[in-house]
Amino acid sequence: MIDFQPLFQAVRQAAVLCQQVQEHYLVSSDKGGHEPVTIADYGAQAILSRAISQYFPDDAILAEEQGGQFMELVSDEQRQEVIRLISEILGIPVTQVDVVKWLDYGQNREASRTWVIDPIDGTKGYISMRNYAIAVGMMVDRKPVGGIIGTPAYPGGAQLFHAQSGVAYMQPLNGGEVKRIHTSTRTEAASLRALESVEKSHANHDRMQLVREAAGFGAAELIHIDSMEKYARIAAGDAELYLRLPRLGSIRPFMIWDHCAGTAIVEAAGGKVTDVDGSPLDWSTGKTLNNQGIIVSNSAVHDRVIAAVQKILAEET
Ligand code: AMP
Ligand code: MG
Repeated sequence: MIDFQPLFQAVRQAAVLCQQVQEHYLVSSDKGGHEPVTIADYGAQAILSRAISQYFPDDAILAEEQGGQFMELVSDEQRQEVIRLISEILGIPVTQVDVVKWLDYGQNREASRTWVIDPIDGTKGYISMRNYAIAVGMMVDRKPVGGIIGTPAYPGGAQLFHAQSGVAYMQPLNGGEVKRIHTSTRTEAASLRALESVEKSHANHDRMQLVREAAGFGAAELIHIDSMEKYARIAAGDAELYLRLPRLGSIRPFMIWDHCAGTAIVEAAGGKVTDVDGSPLDWSTGKTLNNQGIIVSNSAVHDRVIAAVQKILAEET
């Protein structure tokens, strides 16, 4: 077993940084393709990667942000603000050289263990004061076998989810009882809670509605939330189904950091995460995944949903 405590601490520190930026300094820039990024994305990744560089120095990291972009996209003044915040939160003097080194630490390296970081998943949700997640997945030999997700806007209070060795847990983000979690056993349409992205550009809401109807789950409660918090809710038994089907003709690949930690936690809690045909996702292809969609469930409804997806896909062609 790996001691996750230093990473829990880093996720908590990253969450403090995110909150401070949200309250005082929120300005976003566009890193291309209308994808927003904020200084909190860089600040949170620097804190998370620093912890990995200290505790697991020989491991590889696959992370969303890059030191070069921090230098190019962020104004001098904003860079100084986030460096000052990191320094304050860590309680040590921090330089720009440190931050760039942490942002790029372990990237472009091969190792049997790889940490997969999305410092702020759901940046659009974060900017709009909705839901977001701070995520660190752990892959061993290219399989997502562990993960940590902080969800500062979880209903009822900020939570910290984690999984390792096939067991999943949650605890209040700022300390409290650590509880084992399991997916729910619900299968009745009227009691199901179905999740999907808020952003219409991220997934095709109409296709997903057709799938739910074809599966007999048209009456399920539909909840729109940003980020990997969707995985966390399924793992905690607070929802049963999360569909992610791209817009027709979309050529945008699925990014590994949007799904790695979530998959490890959902699977450890007893749920399923698969491609549209029910096959496991292929984690061996680097930063991008090559699947056609992602179906996440409590397991109990999975086969029924896969059959419905196949029916809708067949009708589309
Ligand atoms: P969600 O909050 O679940 O909608 O997912 C957030 C993630 O969607 C981000 O981290 C992005 O990697 C990803 N994303 C951003 N733009 C798009 C897009 N146009 N199509 C699909 N995914 C996207
Ligand atoms: Mg993301």
